[in-house]
Amino acid sequence: MSVRISPVFALEIPYFCSVDKLQDSDLKFLPGVGPKKAELLKKELKLATFGDLLYYFPFKYIDRSRFLTIAQIEEDMSFVQVKGRITSFSFAGEGNRKRLVAFFSDGVGIAELVWFKGIKWIQQKVAVNTPYIVFGKPTIFNGRVSFVHPDVEVVLKEDGTISGGLQPYYNTSEKMKSAFLNSKAVAKLQENLQKLIGPKIVERMPEDLVGSLKLMPLRDALLNIHFPRSADLLRKAQLRLKFEELFYIQLNLLAQKKYRQKKINGHVFSKVGESFNNFYSSNLPFSLTEAQKRVLREIRKDLGSGRQMNRLLQGDVGSGKTLVGLMAMLLASDNSFQSCLMAPTEILANQHYKTIVDFLDGLGVSVGLLTGSTKKAERRKLFALLESGELQLLIGTHALLEDTVQFKDLGLVIVDEQQRFGVAQRAKLWEKNTNPPHVLVMTATPIPRTLAMTVYGDLEVSVIDELPPGRKPIRTMHYFDSKRLKVFGFMREQIKLGRQIYLVYPLIKESEKMDFKDLQDGYASIVLEFPPPEYTVVVVHGQMKPDEKDFSMGQFAAGKAQIMVATTVIEVGVNVPNASVMIIESAERFGLSQLHQLRGRVGRGADQSFCILMTGNKLSSDSRKRMSTMVSTNDGFEIAEVDLALRGPGDMEGTMQSGMAFDLKIANIAKDGQILSWARNVAEEIVDEDPLLDMDKNRILKAELTRFKGRDSYDFSQIS
Ligand code: ADP
Ligand code: MG
Repeated sequence: MSVRISPVFALEIPYFCSVDKLQDSDLKFLPGVGPKKAELLKKELKLATFGDLLYYFPFKYIDRSRFLTIAQIEEDMSFVQVKGRITSFSFAGEGNRKRLVAFFSDGVGIAELVWFKGIKWIQQKVAVNTPYIVFGKPTIFNGRVSFVHPDVEVVLKEDGTISGGLQPYYNTSEKMKSAFLNSKAVAKLQENLQKLIGPKIVERMPEDLVGSLKLMPLRDALLNIHFPRSADLLRKAQLRLKFEELFYIQLNLLAQKKYRQKKINGHVFSKVGESFNNFYSSNLPFSLTEAQKRVLREIRKDLGSGRQMNRLLQGDVGSGKTLVGLMAMLLASDNSFQSCLMAPTEILANQHYKTIVDFLDGLGVSVGLLTGSTKKAERRKLFALLESGELQLLIGTHALLEDTVQFKDLGLVIVDEQQRFGVAQRAKLWEKNTNPPHVLVMTATPIPRTLAMTVYGDLEVSVIDELPPGRKPIRTMHYFDSKRLKVFGFMREQIKLGRQIYLVYPLIKESEKMDFKDLQDGYASIVLEFPPPEYTVVVVHGQMKPDEKDFSMGQFAAGKAQIMVATTVIEVGVNVPNASVMIIESAERFGLSQLHQLRGRVGRGADQSFCILMTGNKLSSDSRKRMSTMVSTNDGFEIAEVDLALRGPGDMEGTMQSGMAFDLKIANIAKDGQILSWARNVAEEIVDEDPLLDMDKNRILKAELTRFKGRDSYDFSQIS
């Protein structure tokens, strides 16, 4: 059976006409557009209707009331404006490179204006000795300033400005530019659009709300975002539009959450029974951290509440999430429910299976393992046990999602390293019982609070913010490749002390072949440097057969190999406490969250652990920032903040798979955290008072949510 999880939208909502129909008109009907340009706008910018264009905002504004002198122009400046006159023209170059050059003087300095195309036209339009304003992006070559294809405009007004104020700049493509649809032309279309529909724009939020929040009315905001009357009005317009965008995302998420809470009956785990208690008193080899205890309390409360749990457990690498998950699973079996734990890789699933079987020794809880390489006969046995209900805990990989996997009564689903899974996959687990099971998703890629609010905005969130006692912070160092011999020396010392070492190579899809060669060359040179019989080096990568991988992992876990050369298959979850050195080759090619995950493979035992980042000598400023961040902190949340700032939300691990394309039109999750929190609070108050948005004053909100769902970039109905 499939479970509908789209909330408000599943209700029959009459189309409420808060949004004027005009905005749905085809762009070809806008004065200045026509069928050809309409086609181009659709193809290049995905703009099909008046409304699309109205919400196509400038990516920047240029203050056209400011002028520079030619002498003030420096390298790498963006668009600038200068005033002066052309003193003479000349031609340069041959064939394709033939160009018209005008020498432009502001009375002190001289700049070159260069045209490769439209030369005839320029010669007709532009004359020497006339006062002009030249506007463009300057380049400096051999100390000479030049502008290629600048805007040249006659100085009309006394004060020397043409349009004055802030001029909007729109992104356009090369194709558009060659069809004369440059930024300026788009601005012209925006102007036409404003004339046509500007006064008719109606509010998209209840007017009382807009008033009480002191937001700029939508009509003014949509005018000022394109044609700001002043910097202050621009800021207010931006605020209004960002708020609205973030507010509807939050309202949608919170409304879904409320709807689920109302409509789905959670399986009730009313008692704490033998398995849990015996485990706690006899098998648990250490005491739980305070954070683990707190999170367990939160989970237990959910499980007993009669509501379905949807909880995200965030905790830095090594904070002991598995154990919390396991204890929740024991609660399930104490209440005669089955549970399953899904991990993203076979290595990790195997490891969880072993750890859990060890942990549960003597308790009489049955545990099964299902992965891609589980043999047919074994599968058949497992499936029979699952369906009869004899098997209580099932651990596995994606294989758990297959339709053939049928439970008797699945009460709890745990997804480990959930950032590795797609939303659809998670949703599939819901369907393994007629009444959806409780869901706990765990992630060790901490994400900033603002992002969590958006990506997981409909989940409850628990955080383990404490590491088990006795862990020594990992020391991280960054070395250039030229220091390799020193690193070899360090490796020998550590091995002498009885430690084990991971050496990781990047393996990135796009350049897999080359990377693979790097890995193999690396392995060969390590074996030369650390030869048998004194040393044993094993290798693990994604292209090995599962049993070969297992063998290597086994050798390393048992301490029989001192060095493991690997790709990022070992990135998540792997737990070998005696391994205390992590060396990452070509570290500049990894993202911050990946580096942090990899580093988390060490620092799990009592010994001082080290992480060594090896890079080439030449680094981009972003790479340098990543390295210095890794060296300076072990805090996953802090690292996540830097990651977000460097990359923007769309590229963060855990968001790409979130089912949300993140093409926010104006808000920026990384920068607009305050507006986001504000929007969430406002949305929260609204759904607390009126969960299904049935009250009269919330009619617009409900109608907008319905529209919102139709927007192609979001499909919130899929988020579980
Ligand atoms: P992660 O949160 O990264 O999944 P794990 O669950 O793999 O972390 O735990 C890391 C290690 O810490 C494991 O060896 C686990 O047994 C151990 N551990 C978990 N909780 C505690 C605790 N309260 N005290 C000591 N060690 C713990
Ligand atoms: Mg883990």
